[in-house]
Amino acid sequence: MMSNSQKKASQAIEAFDAILGLGSNVGNKIANIDDAIARLAASDDVHINARSQNYRSAPWGVLDQDWFVNSCVLITTKLTPHELLAHCQSVERDMGRVRDHRWGPRVIDVDILTYGTMKIDDPNLVVPHPLIAQRGFVLVPLRDVAPNFHMNGKSISQMIDAMDVTDVVPISE
Ligand code: ADP
Ligand code: MG
Repeated sequence: MMSNSQKKASQAIEAFDAILGLGSNVGNKIANIDDAIARLAASDDVHINARSQNYRSAPWGVLDQDWFVNSCVLITTKLTPHELLAHCQSVERDMGRVRDHRWGPRVIDVDILTYGTMKIDDPNLVVPHPLIAQRGFVLVPLRDVAPNFHMNGKSISQMIDAMDVTDVVPISE
């Protein structure tokens, strides 16, 4: 639930395009991604414009865990970046995500990859997400919804070509 002051703030601002990255490696992973997207869209201030394919990807960072399903959504939102983060985290919480260790197994992870062209560097929110360029499982779905995406002077295809993405495989429905 948003407080009245948050409601006022979100009504006062224009709508921005943002891109969210989703991941799941516990339970019915594809159903978890679907559920999270439905919950994200349940806010009047979030509209889903495009959705990537689902990809199967190998674990990153902590290798001793199950494979992931990853996906991206392109949204339009009237939420501020911090309101959007709070919304993503409430979806994670409501779906029973337990925060135990960094990069460990998760029912659902929802990250803000971009928010308009805004650059944010706060203790609890960094946008664009700092690890975009290093993670094939983020870049490959991101390309589905934002083929013209650029970062640090590189196109998304250049970034993908520069890394090994053989372990990021589209899941045929
Ligand atoms: P990760 O997504 O890196 O696996 P978590 O989902 O556990 O890690 O998030 C850890 C913290 O990252 C969150 O508490 C949040 O405040 C912070 N964070 C910083 N930037 C972002 C962002 N762009 N999107 C989501 N969370 C972010
Ligand atoms: Mg996260």
